[in-house]
Amino acid sequence: MQVGKLVEQWRRARMKVGLVPTMGALHQGHLSLVSLALGEADRVIVSIFVNPSQFGRGEDLSSYPSNFDEDLKKLDEAGVHCVFFPSVDEIYPEGFSTSIHVSGLTDTLCGKYRPEHFDGVATVCSILMSIVRPDIAVFGRKDAQQLAVIRRMVDDLRLGVEIHAGDIIREPDGLAMSSRNSYLDPDERRQAPVIHSGLSRAAVLVSKGERDTERICGAVREAIAEASLATLQYLELVDPDSMKPVSKLTTPALLAVAVYFGHTRLIDNVILKP
Ligand code: AMP
Repeated sequence: MQVGKLVEQWRRARMKVGLVPTMGALHQGHLSLVSLALGEADRVIVSIFVNPSQFGRGEDLSSYPSNFDEDLKKLDEAGVHCVFFPSVDEIYPEGFSTSIHVSGLTDTLCGKYRPEHFDGVATVCSILMSIVRPDIAVFGRKDAQQLAVIRRMVDDLRLGVEIHAGDIIREPDGLAMSSRNSYLDPDERRQAPVIHSGLSRAAVLVSKGERDTERICGAVREAIAEASLATLQYLELVDPDSMKPVSKLTTPALLAVAVYFGHTRLIDNVILKP
């Protein structure tokens, strides 16, 4: 049955419908969003779609990890009611010509280095929401800028979908779970927790009274530089809603980072509270 028809039936039965958009290669981070959705909605749909339009030229679209059978098993065990795995043609049929650009929020952090990324994300999420028509959709705080972009788009376009956010789920050594962690070789994997320990150093400084962005970021840069295989792409302290840089910590702010280990780009963040 078509996913739209299925949701229509659920709606007629007055059920609340939740959507969790993913690109597959599922891990505990994704499953935590699923369990959040199951707690909020009567029926939960997980979409698996590796969205070509959010990958830039030279990025990892063709090698993006995929484990479809395992994903289905995990989602079945989690109690998901429907898995939606559209083809590229179903999402972008011939003649498709629309792109959604959320301005301002996308100028900093990842947006600076992946200029088309958030247009791809906003466009595909609006299509998924139009097809599924959920009451709620759940996104992870791991992609904090993405979450802000989606919230803005849903508000601006009056999509009528309530957005919920799930906390970052980490490996025991602190590394934020990510489908891309599978690209790391053993040495890179050993060093990768430095991202989280660096961010945690910032939180400790703030708890001791530090409020100056340069000094906070300096400490994190130093920590990350201790990992010989890490190359920092950006580290910025920004307002969590507008994503604009802040020079002094006076209200809660998002400290967000992107680090390369070899060809693998990892992101992470923490909210710093003065
Ligand atoms: P992806 O499959 O990477 O596009 O991610 C799908 C959703 O899972 C997004 O809303 C991500 O923010 C979320 N997500 C990815 N990794 C984590 C994590 N470690 N903890 C919580 N949510 C996550």
